[in-house]
Amino acid sequence: MNEVIAKRALGAALAYAAGDAFGATTEFMTPAEIKDRYGVRRKMIGEGWLRLRPGQVTDDTQMCIYLARSILRSKGFCPVGVADGFVEWMRSKPVDIGSTVRAGIRRYITEKKVLAEPSEWAGGNGSAMRILPLVVYCLKSWHLFPAMALGQGRITHHNRDADLIMLALGECLKVAIETGDKMAVLDVASAFIRRYPAYSFSRYKGECSGYIVDTFKCVMHYFFDETSLENIIIGTASQGGDADTTSAIAGMLAGAIYGVDAIPRQWQRTLDSDVQRTLTGHMYELLQLPCCWVEAQWEAQCNAEWFALEQAEGTLYDGL
Ligand SMILES: [Mg+2]
Repeated sequence: MNEVIAKRALGAALAYAAGDAFGATTEFMTPAEIKDRYGVRRKMIGEGWLRLRPGQVTDDTQMCIYLARSILRSKGFCPVGVADGFVEWMRSKPVDIGSTVRAGIRRYITEKKVLAEPSEWAGGNGSAMRILPLVVYCLKSWHLFPAMALGQGRITHHNRDADLIMLALGECLKVAIETGDKMAVLDVASAFIRRYPAYSFSRYKGECSGYIVDTFKCVMHYFFDETSLENIIIGTASQGGDADTTSAIAGMLAGAIYGVDAIPRQWQRTLDSDVQRTLTGHMYELLQLPCCWVEAQWEAQCNAEWFALEQAEGTLYDGL
């Protein structure tokens, strides 16, 4: 295993969890309310509408852990295994669960349908927010990533915005982990928004909701605008809205570029130690496990879904 790559992947995972725990404090607040109550907050303190312990993570990090675990258990990727993992997670009575995620897992339980039908209402950030473990797993066989990403994402979110941005964020994280070069990530992001100007974050107006387009703009604005991991996460969290998810995704990109050591000491000490241990173990295992499908039928179906998306959009990764 390439130790430099492993370190960057671990930086992404731990900063993702740190962003989740840090941002959850100000989820659903407005920037004015946040400023009023905290000024500029630099400490990880928990609380928020979920009344969290300092360092406690939410559904974002938990879904990443369950997705990683399902791949490791199946010794490969299969949407059924991932869906079963999500059922197990929902039954563990998580502290929070998004409405589209809940509806998707319920549909799988009651109708045994693994992938959702397309829906204009499924443009939430839930499928993109858990992409991290799949990116790490697919690094060694990147051509398998798009179909697998759709296979995990569409369990809950089958929506054009959600699909396209999930894939773009995956590509950004891959490049961040492989190169450690922020400008290389900017090249990918710029190519993406040249193609999809509606997702442009260049004139950011404070969007920060759980709608994936808002989430993407918020994450990219702070990731490229700020120059330290700490300020990137503080920036996204200070916008409020879906602050745990925006901070987690921004943390993920920042962690790959700036590394674990850039996570402030107080956050490292406070972040749930079980989560840190679990993520560390899972990242190393995902990097080592050969990347493959475990069921030919699902490989064929997800490849067909990816083929159909490329037919509709044109060759998606061309020039990205
Ligand atoms: Mg959350």
